[in-house]
Amino acid sequence: MNTATTNLTKKVAFYTLGCKLNFSETATIARDITAEGFERVPFEARADIYVINTCSVTENADKRFKTIVKQAIKSNPEAFLVAVGCYAQLKPEQLAAVDGVDLVLGTTEKFKITDYLNDLSKNDFGQVHSCEIEEADFYVGSYSVGDRTRAFLKVQDGCDYKCTYCTIPLARGISRSDALENVISNAKDISAQGIKEIVLTGVNIGDYGKGEFGNKKHEHTFLDLVRALDKVEGIHRLRISSIEPNLLKDETIRFVAGSNCFVPHFHIPLQSGSNMLLKLMRRRYMSELYVDRVAQIKKLMPHACIGVDVIVGFPGETDQLFLETYEFLNSLDISYLHVFTYSERDNTAAATMQGVVPKNIRRKRSKMLRGLSVKKRRAFYESQLGSEQTVLFEGENKEGYIHGFTANYVKVKMPWDPSYINTLHQVRLKDIDDDGMVRFNFIQKQQALTNAAMQEALK
Ligand code: SF4
Repeated sequence: MNTATTNLTKKVAFYTLGCKLNFSETATIARDITAEGFERVPFEARADIYVINTCSVTENADKRFKTIVKQAIKSNPEAFLVAVGCYAQLKPEQLAAVDGVDLVLGTTEKFKITDYLNDLSKNDFGQVHSCEIEEADFYVGSYSVGDRTRAFLKVQDGCDYKCTYCTIPLARGISRSDALENVISNAKDISAQGIKEIVLTGVNIGDYGKGEFGNKKHEHTFLDLVRALDKVEGIHRLRISSIEPNLLKDETIRFVAGSNCFVPHFHIPLQSGSNMLLKLMRRRYMSELYVDRVAQIKKLMPHACIGVDVIVGFPGETDQLFLETYEFLNSLDISYLHVFTYSERDNTAAATMQGVVPKNIRRKRSKMLRGLSVKKRRAFYESQLGSEQTVLFEGENKEGYIHGFTANYVKVKMPWDPSYINTLHQVRLKDIDDDGMVRFNFIQKQQALTNAAMQEALK
């Protein structure tokens, strides 16, 4: 690699599509590249290198990618363009053929990107360096700080499940985990930089511990990870990004209920309320287990926020089965939905299944569930009005307002005041404004909560 001094003038910019895991990996790749002397600039700015971290779940992933490439080329037609991420692993040739793309790195190569930045001259056709996904059996840690108020800490990668609609195992490989001591040291690094909230991320984090030391055995469990992180000094909040219902054990729910740091917010993929469709999706639970998980959480933490992933339009989803999902969700004490419209993915079992649902029906069902999500979120927010909460304020001026989140994921806002960025305050939730956001009164105005006071307030 060229010496850092020669790269001092060179600018690099990043664009991330997809999940929290992708954001944490972009942040790590960016740190590696800037350590080589490159200067990081916003994606809208003129840069010498543009790195696009792609996603294979996003609908129209290819269209999105092309639009972003065009934007980069417009800023600097001479720039060197690199594509990494899940889509780059699944469709390397397709991305390499996009005008302006110079380099496509697959899952095993993305963290070695600095080895590919010796020669930044443009290529007529993108060079591809990717591999058979079986070779992606090693683990690379990553975390994001500074990009946002909260940090995304990767603890696990890949997945051994075989859900019939999903390409992630094909893009990220087998389930493997970071060594527990590495996770703890990353968490300490993050909190040492003043970040107040850490979001645990991965592909199937409930499977944490598998492949920790390069073998299939579980050296530690997800509960071991949670217990160890809870003891780390200086972390105010720990949030579990998403966890499979069959991997969310009673002990973990009980531990979170009694924890000082872990917040009462669970995001649990359901995908369908119909057992018949869950079988076709090859999910590892039935709807009854999901009901039990929600009941267990609400019994121990009545104020907990529960988010649900659900897919509409999966092959075989008749009107009847869709209504079964709708009624199932409507009957559950949950707080919001993330609704995904099913779309066929190459090399997945579902792509060749019978009972294809027309696109317009998929869209109609998606609209219905998004309407239900608005209703659920409103009901959850209303149930929290009058309660005392701790708010962590974010860093962006959103049309003259500063936003923040309570521990149980209620979104609040107040007039913009940069002195509140990344501070924790005790508030009483007051009412909901026309945008569906919560207004509040400060209980301990002007004095950001110290860690000790915060622990006390959270009890
Ligand atoms: S659990 Fe299923 S949906 Fe989730 S990443 Fe693994 S295969 Fe995909």
